[in-house]
Amino acid sequence: MTSSVRIASRMANLPPYLFAEIDRKKALKQAEGVDVISLGIGDPDMPTPQRIIDAMATAITDPKNHQYPAYAGSKPYRTACAEWMKRRFGVALDPDTEVLALIGSKEGIAHLFPAFIDPGDVTLVPGVGYPVYHTGGILIGGETHWMPMNDANDWLADFESTPADVLARAKMMFLSYPNNPSSAIAPVEYFDRAIAFAREHDILLVHDNAYSEIGFDGYRPSSLLERPGARDVAIELFSCSKAYNMTGWRVAFAAGNAEAIKALGTVKSNIDSGIFTAVQDAAIEAMLGPQDDTFEMSALYQRRRDLVMETLGSIGLSARTPKGTIYVWARIPEGYSSAEYAGLVLDRAGVIVAPGNAYGPNGEGYIRISLATPDDRLKEALQRIADTF
Ligand SMILES: *Cc1c(COP(=O)(O)O)cnc(C)c1O
Repeated sequence: MTSSVRIASRMANLPPYLFAEIDRKKALKQAEGVDVISLGIGDPDMPTPQRIIDAMATAITDPKNHQYPAYAGSKPYRTACAEWMKRRFGVALDPDTEVLALIGSKEGIAHLFPAFIDPGDVTLVPGVGYPVYHTGGILIGGETHWMPMNDANDWLADFESTPADVLARAKMMFLSYPNNPSSAIAPVEYFDRAIAFAREHDILLVHDNAYSEIGFDGYRPSSLLERPGARDVAIELFSCSKAYNMTGWRVAFAAGNAEAIKALGTVKSNIDSGIFTAVQDAAIEAMLGPQDDTFEMSALYQRRRDLVMETLGSIGLSARTPKGTIYVWARIPEGYSSAEYAGLVLDRAGVIVAPGNAYGPNGEGYIRISLATPDDRLKEALQRIADTF
């Protein structure tokens, strides 16, 4: 029987799934009995801190939390987000108009498109970055302009080179520092230039600060909202996911420009019904309780970073030493594509690494190595790679 189901044509514009070939090889390897180790995933391996689990356990027993949540987030949650921003960055926000709860920042990124992008409008997207900056636009008929991002410009997406005809149609621009996948950090002067650029061209600037709590060697990431004038043109996304090992809990928030927050909130109120209020209570504990656990996580990732950096040279890879995030972004030897090289690492060593081109056109020639891997597995993976390359 032929199906009468007709899928929207825009679905065909989504990029191919770049892990498909690796997944196929992984299944083959496992069938051969190989113990495959994945360094491909950006998901903290350590459990959520106990203080947060305890807060959840209490909150879940409260019948008030069993009903529909407030769309924008509970008042205590939004107030806690504002308090956290004040303590952490010295940024004062109005919890009623400048803060919006998100079911993870991924949800917020995707829903910014229906709020800001009409068919044919352009989003300025970093040459490597979180895939939804691109696919979120594709799904609603928007267009992507890739901002060049490479070693020569220190992985600071070059918005200034955007051609005038593209700029005329550009409505939104994403930046994200500390950066996934390149691990680059941005100097405040770069943020200031981005704010001036967004103002000059009437563009909403969205700063995705998913790694705000993970810094090494004494470095602590800053907030774009600390910069003068940011609130006129920008919103920033924060998430409990990487900061507090809470990827499975789905809790984040947007902060900044009140008009943009309102538009995003309007889209969301037509699509979702908010975050389970008990999870919001747990996130309040995450943000306002003792922060020792996040410092311990940074120290752990820093040790793992050092393990990776010590091994890289001996296997023909090179990388800048990351100051944050949970990734090492390594240049691969000449003569391979990212996908070929990742395939080779899996074939020879039984280790999965992420091919750089999965994150955008400027990722070709790189692989991403995740530090969210238990120490013993990470050590074994590095040993196997060192033995086989
Ligand atoms: C992990 C990640 C996200 C998604 O985070 P959630 O809050 O779990 O949805 C968004 N942006 C970047 C850059 C990420 O690495």
